[in-house]
Amino acid sequence: MQTKYVVVLGLLLSGLGKGIVTSSIAKILQFYNYRVRPLKFDGYLNYDCGTMNPYRHGEVFVLDDKGEVDMDFGNYERFLNIDMNSDFSITGGKLFSEIIAKERKGDFLGRDVQFIPHMTEHIISKIESISEKYKLDTMVIEVGGTVGDIENNYFIEAMRQLALRRKVVFVAVTYVPELATVGEQKTKPTQLALRMLMQMGISPDFIVCRSEKPLEENVREKLAVFSSLSKEHIISDNDIESIYELPMKLMQQGLDKMLIASLNEDHNTLNQEKLSSWKTYLERARKAKEGASISIGVVGKYVGLRDSYASVKEALNHAAATLNAALNIKWIESEELEGISEQQLAERLGNLDGILVPGGFGNRGIEGMIRAIKYARENKIPYLGLCLGMQLMTIEYARNMCNLKGANSTEFDKNTKYKVIDLMESQRWIKQKGGTMRLGAWDAVLKDGSIAKKAYKKRIISERHRHRYEFNNKYKSLLEKNGLNITGTTPDGKLVECVEWKDSFGVATQFHCELKSRPEAPAPLFLSFISSALKFQQVMNKV
Ligand code: GLN
Repeated sequence: MQTKYVVVLGLLLSGLGKGIVTSSIAKILQFYNYRVRPLKFDGYLNYDCGTMNPYRHGEVFVLDDKGEVDMDFGNYERFLNIDMNSDFSITGGKLFSEIIAKERKGDFLGRDVQFIPHMTEHIISKIESISEKYKLDTMVIEVGGTVGDIENNYFIEAMRQLALRRKVVFVAVTYVPELATVGEQKTKPTQLALRMLMQMGISPDFIVCRSEKPLEENVREKLAVFSSLSKEHIISDNDIESIYELPMKLMQQGLDKMLIASLNEDHNTLNQEKLSSWKTYLERARKAKEGASISIGVVGKYVGLRDSYASVKEALNHAAATLNAALNIKWIESEELEGISEQQLAERLGNLDGILVPGGFGNRGIEGMIRAIKYARENKIPYLGLCLGMQLMTIEYARNMCNLKGANSTEFDKNTKYKVIDLMESQRWIKQKGGTMRLGAWDAVLKDGSIAKKAYKKRIISERHRHRYEFNNKYKSLLEKNGLNITGTTPDGKLVECVEWKDSFGVATQFHCELKSRPEAPAPLFLSFISSALKFQQVMNKV
């Protein structure tokens, strides 16, 4: 069977939630039992996302296969409850390096290498070979950026050409603004952008309209005329409370049936089991809003851009919904905790039911995070540390419980007397930055009786990593003797993967367990953390 394609393009502006639309369309196709995968094209010339600053670009998502990819992959995996592969991340950087490698090999001997036909053919054959490799019925291709950008122009042209040979359905995601003073939804920007898309030879099959309020009927009609579509093909994607509601919202407007018809498909029926598993989560999430409310402080250095911690936020949401807790996340800029008095610190952190320190790089804000961890330990506030959060939990413990004054990671202080966190041996000779950290899925072995083992309910787990520094085994016995339990290591025992406090709920992992949390399968340690936060809150309220 030949793979069929849905291509999702953005009109007008970025940040419309094209990734959520792509994920939702893929989810709908999954509800209908199609073997579907999303694929993302990003126009930038970086080879992958690994060298990008999360504060500018949002979180760097990591896959099992070591791929450092766009944060949209987090949405794809969370919606579809599948592990993606980095084949599905195509960047301008990858395409250019491949085309130049081909040229050097002599694949184009005698020819001048051009965008059309060489690059476009390269893109099409790449997409077809991925479809074949993964035996896909359908692929949903998200084109990063906006129609009109220079960076994605050649890619959109490749999609136009793909449509000459294969079944392709085009979905344009646009924005319909409403000026408060006029009180009316405006279609003119979309009309102009549609014209631009049509000049490129593409006429969309569906237009998904982001707006604050539901799309007005006359707006549908107007856009239908401009795009030569029936008005049912103009879909409302107005603000909703949870991104996970979008597949249902699209289906309520009949997108599932219309999409399948446009793909010339009719043999698959709706899989009620898959649909109801998703709906169960939605129902839980809605109900949880009325549950016991808990405040979780996320203490990090990139809190100004929420997207930097997208997976942490989602993992907290999944666990809270599952445990019927109304979650209130407090984003705390770690630097702000540095120069303040103990009393001010207590004012900032004292009413939290849980503290989380996520991953990060570089030394800005580190001391503020360490202060937050100390506060959590001394006040028995449940603590969860992720990657950097585990390294800092170790440093805090070494400094304050093992008398190793000034203990640090060599990432932050090369000359520290007590290098409790140090560069991994395997990293010492690496000079190149891109793709060279300890990346992707690695096994960890958990200790009996530990918080981690109780959470995962198994001894050997596989989680994703992205780091260069590690727990220094030289300090293992001293730290353990003083009460920091090492509860997870690599199977060969060489790298520490998990540490825990012995007197209160505190657990931190070298791996990023937030990355694999999904609505239909919340991360085990997040469940334990939220459940401890709920207990902590109950105890505190009773006092
Ligand atoms: N900066 C630390 C390291 O490289 C932690 C990385 C992270 O939190 N992802 O080891």
